[in-house]
Amino acid sequence: MSEMRKETLVIVGSGPAAWTAAIYAARADLQPLVYEGSFSRTMVPGGQLMFTTEIENYPGFPEGVTGQKMMMDFKAQAERFGTRVVTEDIVRVDFAVRPFRLWSGGGSEVEARAVILATGANARWIGLPNEERLAQSGGGVSACAVCDGALPFFRDRVIAVVGGGDSAMEDALYMTKFASEVVVIHRRDELRASHIMQQRALESDRIRFEWNTIVTDVLGDDEITGLRLRDTLTGEERELEVGGLFVAIGHTPNTGFLGDQVKLKDNGYVATPVPWRTATSVAGVFAAGDVMDDYYRQAVSAAGTGCMAALEAERWLAHGADDD
Ligand code: NAP
Repeated sequence: MSEMRKETLVIVGSGPAAWTAAIYAARADLQPLVYEGSFSRTMVPGGQLMFTTEIENYPGFPEGVTGQKMMMDFKAQAERFGTRVVTEDIVRVDFAVRPFRLWSGGGSEVEARAVILATGANARWIGLPNEERLAQSGGGVSACAVCDGALPFFRDRVIAVVGGGDSAMEDALYMTKFASEVVVIHRRDELRASHIMQQRALESDRIRFEWNTIVTDVLGDDEITGLRLRDTLTGEERELEVGGLFVAIGHTPNTGFLGDQVKLKDNGYVATPVPWRTATSVAGVFAAGDVMDDYYRQAVSAAGTGCMAALEAERWLAHGADDD
């Protein structure tokens, strides 16, 4: 039997954008209901930060903080002001009706006058078992150089970066500050990155490129020690000693549950058509954090857009919600 909840504001997601939106909305007495997502093999409530090790670039934590602790504290702060939390995914929405309707993976249905989408994005991984194991154990495999690259672990080591786009070039350039050498491993002989990023990386004497090469295994028990590589032209396999691996092969925003109910950009991120606003193509539906941000993708910028979405939702509920 499905039960129907009637809510003012539903927030979907549980990263810094979602919890910041919840803190602001709860303090504005909107009594938000957060669907924080369920536990799956590749994702847990709390999102991508649950997989990062130490966060050193979020202001206010001079000694750093773990992603897990930060997300637990964000959630506790939202709950302190009355946010209610359901540990389920939203699997389907209908934004053509008012109030909006959302369905959870647990079989419940909820009505909401306003919705904030903050389901984030997942970094793409190559898909190798040892890559996943060492990424989860903090063994020197990461999908975010800006998050993890400055950790002592990566200093003065040979660091591999996989990918040929702007993220890979940015990660490679960033890692030149810490690594003894950076090796970019790209599956083709041509980069996808923008001209300027390519130029910077190609001109760096700290970066070398392995072209037409894919990673077929990540070596090391507790810590990464090397990579097994395959030449895509000759099929030849060999090993490369490295002390760290950054996988920079793109992100996938978590929008599957939205169907065609809200406009997405060409690259799949939720469109927020007005600059410096979080309003989506559907009045009353707002988007915050990595699900709409294909550019900054930082915890602090996600928190900022979460705040913006809550303020916009509050104003819309006060002035616009029942006008149309
Ligand atoms: P991207 O442009 O989609 O590039 C992904 C790269 O990873 C491509 O080179 C692709 O190879 C490679 N790749 C994909 N799947 C792979 C796999 N399974 N194994 C090996 N390689 C794989 O993603 P992105 O670099 O994250 O950039 C996303 C967007 O953000 C872009 O619009 C970018 O301009 C923007 N961005 C901008 C900046 C900046 O301006 N500073 C920084 C970061 C991101 P192929 O080339 O062969 O397809």
